[in-house]
Amino acid sequence: MASVTRQLKKAARIILIGAPGVGKGTQTERLLTRYPQLTAISSGDLLRENVRRRTPLGIQAESLMQAGKLVPDDVMLRLISSELVSRGWISQPASTASTSVPSAPEIAPSASFILDGFPRTAAQAASLEKLVPINFVVHLLTPPSIIIKRIASRWVHAPSGRVYNTEFNPPKVPGRDDVTGEPLTQRPDDSIDTWKQRLKQFEETSKPLLEHYEAKGCLWRVEGNSSDEISPKLFAEIERRFG
Ligand code: ATP
Ligand code: MG
Repeated sequence: MASVTRQLKKAARIILIGAPGVGKGTQTERLLTRYPQLTAISSGDLLRENVRRRTPLGIQAESLMQAGKLVPDDVMLRLISSELVSRGWISQPASTASTSVPSAPEIAPSASFILDGFPRTAAQAASLEKLVPINFVVHLLTPPSIIIKRIASRWVHAPSGRVYNTEFNPPKVPGRDDVTGEPLTQRPDDSIDTWKQRLKQFEETSKPLLEHYEAKGCLWRVEGNSSDEISPKLFAEIERRFG
């Protein structure tokens, strides 16, 4: 991809929804390159970092992730809201203390960002709404029969979350991250059996999630058999809405 950059005129608060392996991480990377104002949080990367650091949250999440199940909503909400605060996108975390009257957090008005992988359930979406209003929801669609074929050739640079595919998006040096030169690894939950379970989980939870955003009028669907097919459509729509 040529590294053309574009300016966004309006604050874009974007979330990406799609089946496991659809390419949310790949699109996120490309959006960050094209729109330097954007920053991103990937819920999966945050969880994997907690697993690597052996935090209590990471230890709790690990077996669920390995089984292709979702991490509980309250755990995810705490993780994401503290990340939003530490990035300076909101001024305070969601009030979880039942004794205090919850006040709406202050949102940094110009913050433009992408959430990759959060929210994943209608309950997470409802909680996120109280923290930050999302104004563009992208539903990425690729047939599962195509995703399953490419999942085995997916390699990641775990510390950054950069994603490669040896079939169509290979690293410059085989087995090495383009930026750091560090070794690439495969995700333990990218085994075919776990991927199937993740897909089932996605199919169960995404319907009410998509309906939630459909009702709000900010849902946009994009289809393609590859990330290269999807990116130009996504760029065009973002420029139409925020450019
Ligand atoms: P991909 O990264 O290939 O697009 P994915 O959406 O399955 O696929 P991640 O977003 O990296 O992968 O998530 C990996 C795992 O982390 C999930 O299977 C789930 O166990 C957990 N997870 C990530 N985000 C959430 C969330 N918002 N709520 C609950 N669990 C989550
Ligand atoms: Mg991902």
